[in-house]
Amino acid sequence: MQAVVIEGPGQVEVGELPDPSPGPDEVLVAVRRCGICGTDVHIVDGEFALARYPLVPGHELAGEVVAVGRQVEGIEVGTLVTADPNQHCGRCRPCREGHGNVCHNFTALGVTVPGACAELVSVPWWLARPLPPGFDPSVAALVEPLSCVVHGYDVLQPKLGDRFLVYGAGTMGLMLVALAERVGAMTVTVVEPRPERRELAVSFGAGRVVAAGDELEGQQFEVVIDASGSVSAIEDALSRVAPAGKFLQFGVAAPGATVRIAPYRLYSDEASYLGSMSVLHSFDRACDLAVELDLGLGRLVSDVAPLASYSAALEAVRLGRGLKVQVAPGG
Ligand SMILES: [Zn+2]
Ligand SMILES: [Zn+2]
Repeated sequence: MQAVVIEGPGQVEVGELPDPSPGPDEVLVAVRRCGICGTDVHIVDGEFALARYPLVPGHELAGEVVAVGRQVEGIEVGTLVTADPNQHCGRCRPCREGHGNVCHNFTALGVTVPGACAELVSVPWWLARPLPPGFDPSVAALVEPLSCVVHGYDVLQPKLGDRFLVYGAGTMGLMLVALAERVGAMTVTVVEPRPERRELAVSFGAGRVVAAGDELEGQQFEVVIDASGSVSAIEDALSRVAPAGKFLQFGVAAPGATVRIAPYRLYSDEASYLGSMSVLHSFDRACDLAVELDLGLGRLVSDVAPLASYSAALEAVRLGRGLKVQVAPGG
């Protein structure tokens, strides 16, 4: 099969690998779409500590089941599926306390085991989620990022009537905006420097969009979310959290980045500063949301590239061109 292989930091190739054969409890998926995200950029750059090389990247997948192991239950050949790429050991302290997303022995498709930037990928059957026939595979490959958003709101636990402020209208920021009213937002304001993304934020439900935080003057918000990972945005965001409000760090900052906080305000306002990492007990709900609600998620996919153009597609993600970039193995 054709596959992308990251031999080591900075070494990306598209070449031929032997076809995987599914284990007894795995399904073999012919990949139709696989999204590229910031994590993949970090993996290629050697800045993602968990990555194990050589590696086939790709953790945002959709495709058709072409073979099933003998212990697989309830998934038939021909079914369109997406899959939760993450596996937790179940034995470490975070796992035993219900926090498998920060497992000490975390494994994930496209991070520690072969991922879906390939014509074929093997997936444990219990991580695969069947989708209705005819469902758009591009949207199916957005279920993984959507499940990160669902987990983000699980962490945040907003209250009905809260005023929301979101920094960054990339794929994740727009998904956060798309679901904000459903988790209680009274108003949704977005800070985003790019005009075309501001327009999209409005179409996904933002009531007000501004290019920079200064335009908000002294306004404060009960819920402030960073979906940009930018230090200047995060510092601006922290200054706009209302008394007893909550700040969620959702965007991925550079591993060594630091921001200034005002500890007196954290204390005197009794604010909460929270973090949200990946997926936790949120994949099935994300799948249902993508299937049952008309969220218009297809608009988030700006480019679908052939597998052979992986390096160019990755550069587009690195430079923030377009929105969600996906590859389509097998054309
Ligand atoms: Zn991702
Ligand atoms: Zn664990």
